[in-house]
Amino acid sequence: VEACNIHPDEDTVSDPRPASPPPASRDALALAVDVGGTTLAAGLVDAHGRVHRRGTRPTPVADAGGAATVTGALLDLLDDMVATAPDGRELVGVGLACAGPLDAVAGTVSPVNIPAWRAEPLVDHVGDHLGLGMVYLVNDAIAMTVGEHGCGAATGEDNVLGVVVSTGVGGGLVLDGDARLGPSGNAGHVGHTVVELDGEPCPCGGRGCVETRASATAMVRDALRRGWVPRGGSAGGVADGRALATAAAAGDPVALAAIDRGSHALAAGIMSAAALVDLDLVVVGGGFAAAGDLLFAPLQRHVDALRGLSFLERLRVVPAALGPDAGLVGAGLIAHRRWPAPSRRASSA
Ligand SMILES: [Zn+2]
Repeated sequence: VEACNIHPDEDTVSDPRPASPPPASRDALALAVDVGGTTLAAGLVDAHGRVHRRGTRPTPVADAGGAATVTGALLDLLDDMVATAPDGRELVGVGLACAGPLDAVAGTVSPVNIPAWRAEPLVDHVGDHLGLGMVYLVNDAIAMTVGEHGCGAATGEDNVLGVVVSTGVGGGLVLDGDARLGPSGNAGHVGHTVVELDGEPCPCGGRGCVETRASATAMVRDALRRGWVPRGGSAGGVADGRALATAAAAGDPVALAAIDRGSHALAAGIMSAAALVDLDLVVVGGGFAAAGDLLFAPLQRHVDALRGLSFLERLRVVPAALGPDAGLVGAGLIAHRRWPAPSRRASSA
């Protein structure tokens, strides 16, 4: 696969339509979708991982039973994307990345951070609504890992853990050169490995998971508990990961300590995964990776402190290269490669 070349402004670049339709295989586009607890994103992605169109919507905060509200917002976004598809360019299918857990065989999703969706038949909804060909459902962190492996920070690497640090903590694996899904499509979920035996309850139902310490949500909660007051304070400062990073950048010791504790837990999860499957590289993305060295400096320090076995010495930890597009790129590549087997084959295609 050629190196990615993201074109955020391609919408406005003139692209004269060829006189005759191009060969479908060369110019075909995939409809890529990345469903997160905060943002619904969609785009049109070519076989080289280039994003040609993109759009986002906030994920609706629906009450229990409000599954249709969230699904409806997503289908609206997909309609917009399909409407912008350039004439003459075949849509090969849908790559559907979703926050986990999910059941890739049944085509259903139950994202920890989208409570309105439990066993939501997302593959059927999307396939029925669009009447498009193949629909491929993958965990969003696996999609991010496929994107970074295909044309980002992990290009050419054979043994990779991709980590998403955001509302939660997700993960995906590439081993011996191939992305691994596991039978249910949830392999590599490092966020729910346990780092604290008597730790806090996790939204997943477990206890002491990496996510309870290292998600942006958890680090913010930790800082608030220890007296951090977000900028604006009682006048209405928003306590989120961005505000925490801003405070840390300004030298706020409570914010810095919260990120340090979170990165320590993340390092423990990473090193456990590395010991288990013999990794070369860890790529860290997700919204909170935008904190840059504020996250990566303590993370590197804790990783180094936990290295023991000789085969862990070569492990490198690097920031993701594709930014917020990584999940879309990966979802698009998955649809182009027709891999893994689609959760749904359109009966009409
Ligand atoms: Zn958990």
